[in-house]
Amino acid sequence: MSAIRLHWEMDTAGKVIKCRAAVAWEPNAPLVIEEIEVGPPQEGEMRIKILASSLCHTEIFHLFESKDKRGFPTVLGHEGAGVVESVGPGVTEYKPGDKVIPVSGSQCRECRFCKNPKTNLCERSWLNYHVDLMSYPTTRFTCRGQPLLQFTSTGTFSEYIVINQMYVAKIRDDAPLDRVCLLGCGISTGYGAAVNTAGVTPGSVCAVFGLGAVGLAAVMGCKNAGASRIFAVDINEQKFEKAKVLGATDCLNPKAYNKPISEVLAEMTNGGVDFSLECVGNSEVSRMALESCIKGWGVSVLVGYTDVDFSARPIQLISGKTWKGTLLGGFKIRDSVPKLVNDYMTGKIKLDEFITHKMDLEQINDAVNLMKTGQCIRCILNISK
Ligand code: NAD
Ligand code: ZN
Ligand code: ZN
Repeated sequence: MSAIRLHWEMDTAGKVIKCRAAVAWEPNAPLVIEEIEVGPPQEGEMRIKILASSLCHTEIFHLFESKDKRGFPTVLGHEGAGVVESVGPGVTEYKPGDKVIPVSGSQCRECRFCKNPKTNLCERSWLNYHVDLMSYPTTRFTCRGQPLLQFTSTGTFSEYIVINQMYVAKIRDDAPLDRVCLLGCGISTGYGAAVNTAGVTPGSVCAVFGLGAVGLAAVMGCKNAGASRIFAVDINEQKFEKAKVLGATDCLNPKAYNKPISEVLAEMTNGGVDFSLECVGNSEVSRMALESCIKGWGVSVLVGYTDVDFSARPIQLISGKTWKGTLLGGFKIRDSVPKLVNDYMTGKIKLDEFITHKMDLEQINDAVNLMKTGQCIRCILNISK
């Protein structure tokens, strides 16, 4: 296999590659499978052959929910995994044939944020400049003479991508790419939101709002951190079974009560939970998650993404609660994603339980529909044949 691959690498390195990708030409429209051109990697960049990619709610947000419509045409996909095809000048940590996970957050290792252990923000991330566009304006993708954006710098619904090394985690050779791709966003985010950002403590009582992959991973994080009781809250009761598998002790549907779920939780926990995590992306739910915390020491973490403002009464914070947010679960991606892959390989964290569907890239619009209508947790797309 390696002899064949080496030959193939020499054939494509330094050249433009033509390959298949699912292109989002405009919002609120189906994606279109197109032949696109992927340029060779430049200084500090690498080109990756993507084998598998999943779909996260942030794609649904960009396609259907965002108020800003500028981020098109684009290639979506930011939970992918693949193999390095070629590297540009200045890349020394990665070589062709390495298994990698490209991530939508960066770790340049040089900026003041990367050097500070308190945060995983990186000054050089697209998030600091083009958050509404949800990508860098520059791209190595073109189609029919037009540049295509790479969603959140990645664009993993393409057989090949070019990406700067500061966005790439190198992982162990025996990792199954069609599973560990999930660590590119959702699972790392939810898990880290609990273990890093919230800092869930042994014996504590937690509540997770929203039981998609992000929320279920937060449940798993609460459990691994030793929480004694984990409330899993969702308006879709079909999510409860998986929540129990991942460690939830109680499942609640806010629609089943004639009072706010924060009051229900306060009654069940003698005043509120120690930690709450909002994993929906809804400003009303954010407020509810904060109100569900106990005064004095409760911590509420905002994980869900939306561009709608949120609000709360000052007494919520004056009474001693903390309200914070997380990006990618607080993990510095190049250091932490390889460790999370190890945690999966050694059984410390689960991934298989999150996969409800598997499809080919051609079926991408079915996958989008499943995600949009809440019928799947994660669908793994087979990107390259
Ligand atoms: P998902 O669509 O699979 O899951 C969302 C869940 O919330 C669903 O189960 C849905 O039924 C539930 N829900 C909807 N309205 C609700 C309500 N009013 N009360 C309770 N539950 C409700 O999404 P996902 O892929 O798990 O992503 C969740 C959120 O996390 C999204 O907003 C996504 O953009 C965000 N996200 C943030 C980061 C980050 O770095 N902060 C990273 C990845 C994803
Ligand atoms: Zn940095
Ligand atoms: Zn995501």
